[in-house]
Amino acid sequence: MDEDEMRLALHELHRVKQELDDGEEPSKETSSLARPIATPARAAKVEEDQTEEALAERLMLAARARIGRMMKPKTKRTDLVPPKCVRDHFETGHKKQLAQMLIECNFDKATFFNRVEKIVLKRDEQVVEKEQGWYSEAEMKADLSWSSPPRINGAVAFCRARSKTHVRKNQYDDVEEFWVTIREKGSSKQMLASEEVHRKIEEAKDDVNLDGKFDGLDEANAREAAEKAQGAVKAAPADSKFQETLAKFCDSLLNKKNKIHVLIRDLEQNYTCSKSQESRDSLEKHLQAMDGEFETLNDLKTKGEVFGWDEKLLVEVESKMKGATFKTSKAMGLESKIRQEKKFFGKSEKPKRTPKAKATPSPSASTCASAVRVARDVVSDIGVAAASSSGGLCALASCDERHAERDSHRLMAKQLKLSLPVPISTLMGTAFPTLRLRDWMDFLLNRNCWHVLCGLVRPDTDREQAILREFWHRFRQCHPDHEVFRLADSNQISLARTAPLLYHGDEGRGRRRTPFLVTSFHGLLGRGIRSGLQAQAKAGAPKEYTKLKPNFIGHSYTNRYLHCAMPKMAYQDDDVFAAILESASAEAEHMWKSGIQHRYTGARYWAVVLNVTGDWPWLVKGGNLGRSFSHAIKGTKEVKKAPAGICHKCLAGTLEYNFECVHLRTPPWLSTLHSQSPFLDPRSSLTSLLCTKGQEADIFAYDLWHSWHLGVAKVFLGSALALLSDRFPGRSVHARFAELNSAYFSWCHEHSHAPILTRLTTSTIEWDPTTNYPKGNWFKGELSTTLGRFVRYMTSGGNNESRMLDLVGEACAAIDTCVRGLYEHDAFLPSETARELGEHGLRFLRRFTTLARMSLESGWALFLVTPKIHVLQHVFLVDLVLAADRGAWVVNPICYSVQQSEDFIGRNSRVARKVHPSQASRRCLERHLLHAYKQYREAGLLVDARD
Ligand SMILES: [Zn+2]
Repeated sequence: MDEDEMRLALHELHRVKQELDDGEEPSKETSSLARPIATPARAAKVEEDQTEEALAERLMLAARARIGRMMKPKTKRTDLVPPKCVRDHFETGHKKQLAQMLIECNFDKATFFNRVEKIVLKRDEQVVEKEQGWYSEAEMKADLSWSSPPRINGAVAFCRARSKTHVRKNQYDDVEEFWVTIREKGSSKQMLASEEVHRKIEEAKDDVNLDGKFDGLDEANAREAAEKAQGAVKAAPADSKFQETLAKFCDSLLNKKNKIHVLIRDLEQNYTCSKSQESRDSLEKHLQAMDGEFETLNDLKTKGEVFGWDEKLLVEVESKMKGATFKTSKAMGLESKIRQEKKFFGKSEKPKRTPKAKATPSPSASTCASAVRVARDVVSDIGVAAASSSGGLCALASCDERHAERDSHRLMAKQLKLSLPVPISTLMGTAFPTLRLRDWMDFLLNRNCWHVLCGLVRPDTDREQAILREFWHRFRQCHPDHEVFRLADSNQISLARTAPLLYHGDEGRGRRRTPFLVTSFHGLLGRGIRSGLQAQAKAGAPKEYTKLKPNFIGHSYTNRYLHCAMPKMAYQDDDVFAAILESASAEAEHMWKSGIQHRYTGARYWAVVLNVTGDWPWLVKGGNLGRSFSHAIKGTKEVKKAPAGICHKCLAGTLEYNFECVHLRTPPWLSTLHSQSPFLDPRSSLTSLLCTKGQEADIFAYDLWHSWHLGVAKVFLGSALALLSDRFPGRSVHARFAELNSAYFSWCHEHSHAPILTRLTTSTIEWDPTTNYPKGNWFKGELSTTLGRFVRYMTSGGNNESRMLDLVGEACAAIDTCVRGLYEHDAFLPSETARELGEHGLRFLRRFTTLARMSLESGWALFLVTPKIHVLQHVFLVDLVLAADRGAWVVNPICYSVQQSEDFIGRNSRVARKVHPSQASRRCLERHLLHAYKQYREAGLLVDARD
């Protein structure tokens, strides 16, 4: 196992390094050395290549490649984005010139940027800033309307002082003309920038190449030089700017010193341990260094103010500022590090005697190293004798802090048995860990937790079997040709001991907000949905012996079975991703083929993974689907290539079958269901799950929650709120929205709904009335429900000011009835209920289409038709209304909804942020098992191993 870990770590390190290299210094090596190593036969030839010319050419190539990489748009490392002027220069086609300059700068990026800046800025200065010309005294009066004699006299005197370049005789009549500056333009910011560059780079002077429009270019340059020599007038504003910068710098230095002072005082007063003392010492050292810098800078500042700023002083101050910046940033780095760490320092007050709580830290809350440190401090505070009375405390304190995660896991999982007894296996063909479905099922069965898969709170073998029997009986009416029934009919499995499962996958946010994939299995059946249970209790519905409810209640760790957890870096490798899917389908196959055996009774149990669930992007990735939302045609332009279609179940979205016809009861695409395979090569392993032959696409189940709550609802409600805002008085959109906002909050207050939002504004629906289609910007499905009810309240009844609002009201009522109905029912809907709810859904779609058409006719950007609306049509039409014609029962589409799994993903991804990235995958599984153990105990599913 250790070898595996090491291999994994190395693998990861290599990747991290590669990624870093890609991001920053791609250096000469990548381009010049990455060529194949010469074999002996070719060695001579390679040597020949080393002529100066070839080298120069290769350097040029390297430089161009490097610049190309620099200019590539960066989404994450914004610190690497080149200055705008460089970019502009690059985009205006000076690529070769830039490459040459990069070589001249010896590939030093900073120097290179400065140099480029110089050229570009100097150009600006020449072109934009001055308006000058030859004028005689009379012309100054007449043409320039200079009325004051001192001004003219001043100009003449100025030019006479430089008569060689600034005075000439007119070639026609010998009248004396003077080179006068009429106007100087330019903001102070430009002045500063050019000033800075002047000081930094002197040698770039030669590169300036002006295309003069008149002949006296050299003279003009000489004039510039003469003026510069005169100096004073122009330098003054830059000096003042410089002083300002220096003053600001000193202020910020003072601020930072104070911050460190505060921290030192805090450590002194509140923490006693040796670590705190060490931190204080090193902070003091840094503070002293900063004090010195501060004093020096202040001295120089005073000197400049008293004796004036000359070039030498400026250079000195600049170098001091650089030095101070370096020291300060080091000090501040240490400061923030200590500020972070101080929570683990020993406090002055003795900690309360709660060693037990400390000894079992919450596995997802913090790092193991911190837990070990805390345990150590507690032991040292209360003494070994007292600590040994608390189970595991001394053992935890003796863990090696450098391997805290590994050691504490060994301690908690292996010695103290505080972890679920599910072994961690290795994903076939890779070094990545996985939890196998068969091990999970074995654990559930042999630890007497099989009832969880049937949605029961406590074990009851007879009832479990009755529930499963009833489930499959109803399922058969919906999917009579499903392969599972072939197995059952040939007595290969017993349906009374076969649990229905689903496979879910999705990306959460892991370390540094990178995607973190979490895949899991979970039972289709569970303890119900809260709103459904409440509604049924209210209606006084009798409790059924064979209850069949969706899986929404209980901690997600107790009803989800983790399969893989992996950072993007790992699964972006196609082989690794394929291995995950391969393992999932192999486990599923094992569960229906062999099943598992009860340890005592010897009875065999099976499980069938019926569907893959998740958001649409996951379905596309997991199924390697060739038809998906990403193939929707945008805009009304003529398309060059025939679109592939947007739906993996039918041909909607192709040229022949458009998907926008959501108002039709028999849309043209209906006849194309399962007519063409949507799977790309290589075919996803998940397609080998049991299903109805020829309908493999159905394995990938659409999720109503992403499609409605986080999909169409955001578009619909965005447009509805935009329309509704017109009802309120106010001269601007924002004023009307302010009114709408207060109406929403008072409605929430009156009807005791949590508003969820803090404010309802145009940005809530990302609306710019002139251009954008409004669309809700929220990520909480619950807000869609609440806002939907609000809009329904505001528009229902039909007496609105416009036909469109009447339609909005009807649409709201229809969809609310439909979705609420689905949430309030069990895993199976009686066919008449399914038909009724489906009809409500279709009614909503018809209203939506009418609204979209009316907006189009009026030229308003409202009610955008998106691919997700096709998903709704699938659910309402195919899965509810048409399914109701087939049998007495219809599977409630809400079973495939992933709200609960989202919670599961979130929790596991949070763990990934706390552990070392190279081990994230394994640590995540280990901590999951620890945390799940706690949840199983709290739910009463397990009793303490030591009890
Ligand atoms: Zn479709």
